[in-house]
Amino acid sequence: MINIPKGTKDVLPSQSHKWQHVEQTARDVAKLYNLKEIRTPVFEHTELFRRGVGETTDVVNKEMYTFLDKGGRSVTLKPEGTAGAARLFIENGLSSSPMPLKAFYLTPCFRYERPQAGRLREFHQFGIEVFGSKEPETDAEVISAANALLKKLGITGCELQINSIGCPICRAEYNKALKEYFRPHLKNMCQTCNTRFEQNPLRMLDCKEEECKKITANAPEILDYLCPDCKDHFKKVQNLLTAQGVKYVINPNIVRGLDYYTRTVFEFVSTSIGAQGTVCGGGRYDNLISELGGAPTPAVGFAAGLERLLIVMENTGATIPEEQKPLIYLAGMDENSRKKAVELAANLRANGINAEVDLMSRSVKAQFKYADKIGAKFVAAIGETELANGEVSLKNMSTGESSAVKFGGLCAYLQKV
Ligand code: ATP
Ligand code: MG
Repeated sequence: MINIPKGTKDVLPSQSHKWQHVEQTARDVAKLYNLKEIRTPVFEHTELFRRGVGETTDVVNKEMYTFLDKGGRSVTLKPEGTAGAARLFIENGLSSSPMPLKAFYLTPCFRYERPQAGRLREFHQFGIEVFGSKEPETDAEVISAANALLKKLGITGCELQINSIGCPICRAEYNKALKEYFRPHLKNMCQTCNTRFEQNPLRMLDCKEEECKKITANAPEILDYLCPDCKDHFKKVQNLLTAQGVKYVINPNIVRGLDYYTRTVFEFVSTSIGAQGTVCGGGRYDNLISELGGAPTPAVGFAAGLERLLIVMENTGATIPEEQKPLIYLAGMDENSRKKAVELAANLRANGINAEVDLMSRSVKAQFKYADKIGAKFVAAIGETELANGEVSLKNMSTGESSAVKFGGLCAYLQKV
């Protein structure tokens, strides 16, 4: 027996309708916001993620599925969706299309992490990316789309936390202040924080170690260092969120794990799933496209983890529509009626009706039992008499009522119920 790889999960037939519900809801929200789907390869040149996600991130340093293909090229399974979306935008010359360009994706992602609840090695994201606008309306619209998704999924008890991490100019000032603050504490901080101190002190605010978190609590706050333009942008985003009725809190410690973010960053955090509470994270990344060799293009986006959305939905009792059951099971008693059942089922299916017939050579009694197990709403019994009369004996499985329905009228009958 060969088992499933660690950190991956199967979706079973009895569970897939939940996934379809979340994916369909995501597509519905994308439609409302006029976002068009993009699909990028599951693997890309490793260099794309090294540059696009950032050398100092955990994703690049520790979590990438990187290997040499048979041609000796280094390729990496996508750990997130934004770098690929940015490459697609540049490579296909989409900067000459009408701006902004509004895109969404649904994709598997791969990160070599320690598997635990809400943290897998293969997981799935719904993400949106809006390219070409530096205006705060765009930040607010992207956040509002994420908010709409959670609302449509019936997720409650999620808090929207927002922050601004400024532009490279104000962040340089802030990094200086952070370094001054952290320097005397370094010996009490973890190894990762010590490395980040040298490479990207902002990310020290992201540390989950208790000891480091205590020190971080008193660190200077980025919001006090924002330049007038960044301050103004952040204020406008907040006003636009309020105007749309989107509730938020400001959390100055949100910095996001990825290097390309500028100005607005945000997370939707659920209190119901413990440590892995962030269901959705995003922000503005005005420097990514140019970093990847495109003409400077502002952009903003988010990604939500589908597994975490599902966990939150199940933990908070959000309604998930039931899986689709067959409308009718056609039970034949002898060879001729079985053939008629097949013929009728084909006709019903051609007319969009979900119909089932026996594929196991079961007795009629066993067919009824099976039909009940799979939740068929009606069972049509066909035997010699029915064949002779050109009708089925139709039983409503929930009321127990039976009635005779002509072969030719069955489709119309079922389309009405
Ligand atoms: P975390 O702090 O939980 O590691 P992150 O900052 O690495 O999150 P992002 O890169 O922003 O996460 O990814 C966006 C979303 O994708 C997350 O909010 C989460 O819902 C989901 N996600 C990220 N990593 C995983 C994983 N290993 N397993 C399942 N879902 C994940
Ligand atoms: Mg992570």
